[in-house]
Amino acid sequence: MAFDFIQKLPTPQETRELYPVPPHAAKIKEERDKEIRKVFTGESDKFIVIIGPCSADNEEAVCDYVSRLVPVQEKIKDKVLIIPRIYTNKPRTTGEGYKGIMHQPDPEKKPDPLAGIIALRHMHIRAIEESGLTAADEMLYPENLRYVMDFLSYIAIGARSVENQQHRLVSSGIDVPTGMKNPTSGDLTVMLNSVYAAQHGHSFIYRNWDVQTTGNELAHTVLRGSVNERGVSLPNYHYENLRHLLDLYNARDLKNPACIIDANHNNSNKQFKEQIRIVKEVLHSRSYSDDIRRLVKGVMIESYIEEGCQGIHDHVYGKSITDPCLGWEDSERLLYEIAERC
Ligand code: PEP
Ligand code: MN
Repeated sequence: MAFDFIQKLPTPQETRELYPVPPHAAKIKEERDKEIRKVFTGESDKFIVIIGPCSADNEEAVCDYVSRLVPVQEKIKDKVLIIPRIYTNKPRTTGEGYKGIMHQPDPEKKPDPLAGIIALRHMHIRAIEESGLTAADEMLYPENLRYVMDFLSYIAIGARSVENQQHRLVSSGIDVPTGMKNPTSGDLTVMLNSVYAAQHGHSFIYRNWDVQTTGNELAHTVLRGSVNERGVSLPNYHYENLRHLLDLYNARDLKNPACIIDANHNNSNKQFKEQIRIVKEVLHSRSYSDDIRRLVKGVMIESYIEEGCQGIHDHVYGKSITDPCLGWEDSERLLYEIAERC
């Protein structure tokens, strides 16, 4: 095999013992999980906003960002539930580039997964302690899920992973809402098949174990736009797209029909400022139709302190080194507008 086995990493259980979630933070997660769950089961009509940088590359800036969400969340808590995006693994279109803090705790240095696991646990736990908000992350590597599962309140399965069997089977053993994105091709049946797979129990091999899962009834869909054979972005957040998704849900036997609209990626064609208009259009579609209102439980927004993005070596504090993000002022204003319109 062309593998160089560099070092054996601690098991998830060992890292949880070394860097545990403090009891008060675990309590916050328990309460938040209950509240978020109610939105996906339809018991609560609060609107979910998953918001934060494309990649959580820097603990200071990420925790600063998450703390800015706190007073906003407090003011809009009757209508909106904010879930910060703290994404520690980045899927790369060609496999090249920054792979996220788990692999590269310092984006300018060589990969160091041992330091990365410690850094990401430290960042996530600090963010909960400073903000009282538990976060969302992407499950890019299913075998790494148990390094993070004790503090996350939302998991996304990315557009490049959603057709993968291991992602689907592992999702069936997750007990927080798990969003299946449409694949980059835009084929909605792939996304819905993934929801079906995740909502049912499976037995399979996971980290050298023979395991059995019970199914995740909170698995749901995420529309993020697609790209055609010529590389052109095709949005899928318009009213007609949402109605089509509703028809597809109605033709299937899935629990808790729910959708989150990702306003960036191929929905905005990475024109990050368009996220403002896209979110407002989604809210308009919800106000126009009760069916759509029930289906669309929230939005996902890529947002950071400084707007846009930069190169890895540019060192602007709070500016994305992956996808371009909305800046803080626009994001804060948008959160208040969401609360008024949802
Ligand atoms: C992301 O959320 O930053 C991301 C990479 O999303 P997608 O899988 O939709 O491309
Ligand atoms: Mn992104």
